[in-house]
Amino acid sequence: MPNTIKSIAENLMQNTAEYYCAYCGEPNLTFIDLSAGGEQSYVEDCQVCCNPNILYVRVDEDTLDIEIDTESES
Ligand SMILES: [Zn+2]
Repeated sequence: MPNTIKSIAENLMQNTAEYYCAYCGEPNLTFIDLSAGGEQSYVEDCQVCCNPNILYVRVDEDTLDIEIDTESES
């Protein structure tokens, strides 16, 4: 069924990953849009302390392993 195949493909193109807040050190979950490329950076507020973290995301295109470095914005 085409619909089933499409929804599986969409699931594979998005993933969640964990990063540690650069301010408070608490783990946060973030959604990674795998279709946006192997290297991404964006700002996301910590879900615990609400400070803005700069996330540097690297996605291994073969294994889809995700690595995230965080940096404080200021
Ligand atoms: Zn925090």
